[in-house]
Amino acid sequence: RSGYIAIVGRPNVGKSTLLNHLIGEKISIVSRKAQTTRHRITGILTEADAQFVFVDTPGFQTKFSNALNRAMNRGVTQTLNDVDLVLFVIEAGRYDAKDKAVVRLLPKDRPVILVINKTDLLKSREALLPFLAEVSADFDYTAVVPVSAAKGRQTQDLLKEARKHL
Ligand code: GDP
Ligand code: MG
Repeated sequence: RSGYIAIVGRPNVGKSTLLNHLIGEKISIVSRKAQTTRHRITGILTEADAQFVFVDTPGFQTKFSNALNRAMNRGVTQTLNDVDLVLFVIEAGRYDAKDKAVVRLLPKDRPVILVINKTDLLKSREALLPFLAEVSADFDYTAVVPVSAAKGRQTQDLLKEARKHL
């Protein structure tokens, strides 16, 4: 099994931390920076039964103030419609206009996993329930996985879920 995966989300939600954690702790990295005709590859994780190819979504803009941003976002939309799986990352307990701008670009015809990062900052797990209801109302997510990228918590659960969609 092998598939292309895009990690998206507004700045500062922890996308880079998550990617570094996912590929950084594994020895079997083929390449950290590579280019295919269709994608810029930011990391490859190779396991015994699966290969996860992470790709960049360059030019991503969360402001929609002008035509240039809209044009750049069309490029992002193209990338998201060309991967096998999208990981949409948000911060636990925070869902703002910039997150919602990303939601508008998510593809409706392929799997999108909602990754709720920074769960280590939560006071209680129960606090996630109303938050999850609010976020899920805006998009039909394939799965929801709470993680702490920084602490490496539940990231294996995320890979397990992602593997189903390769
Ligand atoms: P990106 O802009 O989405 O790529 O976000 P970064 O990976 O650069 O992370 C933004 C900030 O959030 C950094 O200061 C990270 O250390 C911090 N961060 C990322 N993941 C976590 C997490 O799971 N818990 C906490 N507490 N901080 C995190
Ligand atoms: Mg980053």
